Amino acid sequence: MSANDLVTEDGTDTPRGASVVIVGGGVTGLSAGFWLAEAGIDVLVLERGKVGWEASGRNGGGCSHHHSPLFAEEQRLWPIMDDLLGYPTEFSPNRIRIALSAQQYELYSRAVVNARHQGFEVDELDARTVREMVPLAGDSAYAGHYYRFGGHANPHRTVQAFAWAIRDRGGRVRQHVTVTGFRTEGDRVTGVVTDRGTFGCDHLLIAGGPQTGRLAAELGVHIPMRSARAEMIVTEPLPLMPIGGIDGNGLYGRQTLRGNLAYGGGPHEWIETEFLPAGTRPTTPLAGNIARRLAQLLPKAAHARVIRSWAGVIENTPDGRPVLDRPAPWRNLTVGTMSGVGFGLSPASGRALMQLVRDGRCDFANIGSLRLDRFSALEPDWAELQGWLPGALASV
Ligand SMILES: Cc1cc2nc3c(=O)[nH]c(=O)nc-3n(C[C@H](O)[C@H](O)[C@H](O)COP(=O)(O)OP(=O)(O)OC[C@H]3O[C@@H](n4cnc5c(N)ncnc54)[C@H](O)[C@@H]3O)c2cc1C
Repeated sequence: MSANDLVTEDGTDTPRGASVVIVGGGVTGLSAGFWLAEAGIDVLVLERGKVGWEASGRNGGGCSHHHSPLFAEEQRLWPIMDDLLGYPTEFSPNRIRIALSAQQYELYSRAVVNARHQGFEVDELDARTVREMVPLAGDSAYAGHYYRFGGHANPHRTVQAFAWAIRDRGGRVRQHVTVTGFRTEGDRVTGVVTDRGTFGCDHLLIAGGPQTGRLAAELGVHIPMRSARAEMIVTEPLPLMPIGGIDGNGLYGRQTLRGNLAYGGGPHEWIETEFLPAGTRPTTPLAGNIARRLAQLLPKAAHARVIRSWAGVIENTPDGRPVLDRPAPWRNLTVGTMSGVGFGLSPASGRALMQLVRDGRCDFANIGSLRLDRFSALEPDWAELQGWLPGALASV
């Protein structure tokens, strides 16, 4: 029986299933949905809220994860995503990282070694050059690095672009549908149970962000994960700088096309995965910490008023790396969760997930290090050992 023949539970003629059903309308699920639809595969994305309402619409927009096996593909794809999707992402290339002390410079230089090792170009900047290249920087700058790679994009635009591009290719995105369980037959997942009835599937992709572990556990698949609550602030608009992706002082962020500085970083707070919406409101100490660090990083923006702030939940695996895998014993299950680096990698992670679903392997990157079996010897109390307990603070 094909997925679309599954009997509907609401009595309508609307097809209730798809060849591939994706749980989660964040940037990971939507990108996978886009690449699947692009490949001519019938795809349905189920999202319990609105697309991008969770971390995918609340993040810093940074696209510079040079330590990932998916990074080369991320770098290849971002500059062409607007053309591929048919909608703008506001991708802007390159980043500058400013160090405010010799100690910060030493720390940031370690990341530079890794980037250069992979063939990416980085220029060392003295304090004067930092101030020339970053008009909002000031006397606090000690030195910096100009990454001739990476960049940033607008998370809201990007999520929307993926969703529209799926629709344009005949795929479907259903919002306000909460997945509550799965139907199985032998070693196959045959249906996705939701608060709107059951949707049949030939293949299931779980891309539920921080909920991925909990959802996969319904199928007996253990993905070790913990969630952290992070915050961001947005200032009033300031004159546009030539390069909008400026990091440093423990912060990540970007200048929007309108001129606002949108920044996050500093301490994150470990929470239960099932932390619900009231918990995603910003708290003054975390937002205040970001504002203070931002004023130190960009002193000529210190006068700018903070006009918005929000919180989001970041998914984390024990080693900080994504999980992209087809876990046993299921013949038609794929899981994808990104461990805090999911926005920047999304063009590439979605393509890798599409290939895992369709072919069982990824042909453009070695993603063996992202398999789930790397955690097979993990201590049961790993989260306690790492200090990742609800209420504790994690610095980034
Ligand atoms: C403040 C902040 C700043 C960040 N900055 C950056 C950055 O600069 N660069 C970067 O690369 N990454 C950044 N990240 C991390 C990045 O946002 C995430 O890694 C990425 O968005 C994960 O995308 P996702 O689609 O896997 O998960 P999510 O965005 O969490 O999406 C998962 C979706 O699944 C849905 N879902 C869950 N359970 C169910 C269910 N039962 N039924 C139906 N739907 C369900 C959720 O509603 C959600 O929309 C940041 C995150 C935060 C919070």
